Amino acid sequence: MEKINKNKNLFLLMKKQCYCLYILIFVSVMIVQNIYAGSIGPSSDLLLLVDKDHKVDIRYAPQKTRNIANLVKSCKKEIILREDAADEAIRMFDDMKKEGIADVQAVSGHRTYAYQTRLFNNEINRKKNIGHKYDTAYGLASQEVAVPGASEHQLGLAIDLSTQNSGLTEQFAATAAGMWLDKNSYKYGFILRYKKEKSHITKIVWEPWHFRYVGKIHARIMYEKDLCLEEYLDLLKNEKVIKSMQEGNTCYQIFYTTDIYKTYENTIDRSYDHQDGYIVTTFLVVEDKNMPPSYIRRFIKMK
Ligand SMILES: [Zn+2]
Repeated sequence: MEKINKNKNLFLLMKKQCYCLYILIFVSVMIVQNIYAGSIGPSSDLLLLVDKDHKVDIRYAPQKTRNIANLVKSCKKEIILREDAADEAIRMFDDMKKEGIADVQAVSGHRTYAYQTRLFNNEINRKKNIGHKYDTAYGLASQEVAVPGASEHQLGLAIDLSTQNSGLTEQFAATAAGMWLDKNSYKYGFILRYKKEKSHITKIVWEPWHFRYVGKIHARIMYEKDLCLEEYLDLLKNEKVIKSMQEGNTCYQIFYTTDIYKTYENTIDRSYDHQDGYIVTTFLVVEDKNMPPSYIRRFIKMK
């Protein structure tokens, strides 16, 4: 009887210790999370580089998404984009329509890791069916279809667009929609991601149909300086800070930092580059010449 009581007491003691351990782990996790959140805040991932050397995890999925398939001309029932990209894509479609371009359609938006795996394997099989060995087929396929984890579509920030006649081919570049998008998509925060003359940098063949959302501030700079995302990130890394005058007299200051604890005044966006740094976008207090000699602060809604 005494032995049973002893065992019971031992069991209760162990149970108590387990509770204590759980509480300790929980509190530790909370502290680490708070330190992390307080230091850098979450990354918007607007400038997250995704390619075969910078893959995203199988679990990566965009938060707050929207299906735009019923809001714009689409060839699928589901064209999912991250909310910020979706809002601008809808605006872009509306403006194209106003300018008489009505045949453009959305073909692909967010893709899961699993879906990308299927696409990639299909491409390997196609190459094998025309006589290539597996290694060659894999190499060739990876130039045309992103390997799983290496697709910007997994971010929910990329959209493929085409016309019914062109499909997802180089012919899209010569259509009215293709030409309009090449010139104007930056106004909505999208960049033509895989240009013909940049394929030696992006390591992706020319894709005049693939647009990546990076936000209007960055898209404008990339468009004006004719930089692909890789070049833009290199520029930021080398310069450490660049200024950009946009929308009248609004000046943005964009910083590159590897110090995750560094904070900047007037921060409107912070994005990990997927290499070793963060790009922090801030706006400057600007002088309005029409006002008395005082400074006004412009709050810019960054979308
Ligand atoms: Zn694409």
